[in-house]
This record gives sequence, structure tokens and C-alpha cells, in this order.
Amino acid sequence: MEFSYAAVEAAREVVRRYLPPTPMWSYPVLDRRAGATVLVKHENTQPVGAFKVRGGLTLLASLPDPQRGTVTYSTGNHAQSMAYASRVFGAPCTVVMPAAANPGKVAAIEAWGAEVVLTGDDLAAAEAHAVKLAEQTGARLVSPGDTPELLAGVGTVYQEILEARPDLDAIVVPIGSGSGAAAATVVAAVLAPGCAVIGVQSAASPAAHDAWREKTLVTRPNRTRVEGLATGRAFALPQHHLRDLADFRLVTDDQIAAAQRVLARDAHTLAEGAGAAALAAVLTDPDRFAGRTIAVVCTGGNASPAELADLAT
Ligand SMILES: *Cc1c(COP(=O)(O)O)cnc(C)c1O
Repeated sequence: MEFSYAAVEAAREVVRRYLPPTPMWSYPVLDRRAGATVLVKHENTQPVGAFKVRGGLTLLASLPDPQRGTVTYSTGNHAQSMAYASRVFGAPCTVVMPAAANPGKVAAIEAWGAEVVLTGDDLAAAEAHAVKLAEQTGARLVSPGDTPELLAGVGTVYQEILEARPDLDAIVVPIGSGSGAAAATVVAAVLAPGCAVIGVQSAASPAAHDAWREKTLVTRPNRTRVEGLATGRAFALPQHHLRDLADFRLVTDDQIAAAQRVLARDAHTLAEGAGAAALAAVLTDPDRFAGRTIAVVCTGGNASPAELADLAT
């Protein structure tokens, strides 16, 4: 498994065929609240509501035999990305999700034409089932974390950000498997070596964080409500690159929910919890970012029914 900036350069040619660049704005009310210039990168405006679609398209474009089909496992947005890309390429796709998956995400995945299998309590159970399905059907098993083509595709987010603003002091990136943040470190090293890449995860599901700190692949219980950050285990390929993070912060689920409300009010945008985690890290550590120019990646907007209800309170 290898991943480098050259792969992101190649992925750009694929991604730009299918997706326009996403907007990145700042909002004066948000800047005042944060005490910093905060650029919001709106990956929640992607057709599947999350940045992962860049990785799915890049992966499908790389397959010699897309008709063989793929089977993967996901808490939702990676699955939507695979379903969307498989539809674009006319390829079969099966996704295994935990039984309690967000019903909005399940409906979207089925509407893109993929088959959904709901099973087990967590992503580990879904993974075990996906491995079995791949053996039985001959479909290609796709790991959401350890697939270089996915990192290459999601790296194009950071190309867009840093080609527009190579002067940034920091980019703050929410972490689940770590694919997005790993790609961010590789892109920043080439395009903006002075820009710190800072990761964020929920303290209630800290597998990637603890693996980064302890320098070994660990599993941790998932107690977070924030589904996009709840992988329960660390992945080897992203962890290799996460060594280059400037910092890795933990935030609480309540801090994430507060940041979702701030994005709705100040930035007129709908974020799911994972999509608000980067801003949560900024708002809970104001001294660190005071006076700086930073980007927060609003990675996704697929809020669950409970999150939508919470926004209105
Ligand atoms: C998957 C996801 C993340 C975490 O990204 P990784 O590349 O798995 O670390 C963050 N936010 C949203 C909305 C996601 O779907």
C-alpha cells in the first residue's frame, strides 16, 4: 500500500470530470465568534453530501474490471460514495452497515442503486460480514481506510484548498479512518509546508487518536453519536501519514453539537456531526487560533433525524 502526492495529481483528472470544485467561504459573524479568519470548505455540497465521493470516483475509475463489483462496509458516507461512483461506472455494489445505521443514509445508498445489508452493532461486525460476502461472491472487498485510491481522491479536497490559499496557517480535519487527514498531510507538505494539519476526533470514539498517540494500531469502543467518526479501529495506511499531523485534538459530542448549531446560524449550512467536528476543535481552543487564517473542512451534511431535531432546539 503506497500513497503519494503524484496519486492526488492523477486523481484530480478523474474528479474534475465528474464534480465541480466545492465552495470555500468565510463568514464575518463566524470569524468574530472564533477570533480568527475561518474558511469553511463546503464538502457538504457534494452530490452524496460528503467529501468521500471524490475517493469513490477515483477508485472506480482505477478498476480494470468494474463489472466484478465491490463489497464494502461503512457507517454511511463511504457507502454513499461507493454507491454513487458505482452507478456512474455501471458497476454492482454491496455495502454492509451496522444495524442502527442512519436511515437517511441507507435510503440514499439504495436510491443510488447499491444493495444494503444491515447487520451487527458496529463497524467491526459489518466488516466481518463484508469479508464473508466478498469470499462468497468474488466481488472486490474495499477497505474504507486502507485503499490508496480513496486517499488519492479525497486528497483533491486539500489541493483545492491549498491551491486557493497557500497562505493558510492551519487546516483542521475531522478523522474517522484518517483517510482525509492523511491525504491532507501529503498535499500540505507539497503545496503549503507552512500550513499545520490538525486532526480532530470525538473523545467518545478515539481509535485513530489513540493509535496516533501510541504509534500502534488500536481498537477503541464507539460511544460517540457522531457516526462519521466512529470507526472503532485504526487503519494502517492513514496512520502511517498521520505521523505528520501538527496535532490531534479530541472534542466531546456536545461540543460537536454546539458547532453544528454555529454552522447553521453563522454559515447558513447543514453539517452532520462529523462535518462540524473541525469547527468544534477551533471553538474549544480559541487561544491557539486567535488571529490566524485557517480552513475547517465541513466534510458532510447528512445529519440524522436526531441531529436535525437537535438543531432546532
Ligand atoms: C468519513 C467521514 C469523516 C472521516 O473521514 P476519514 O477519512 O474516515 O477519516 C469525517 N466527516 C464525514 C462527514 C465523513 O463522512
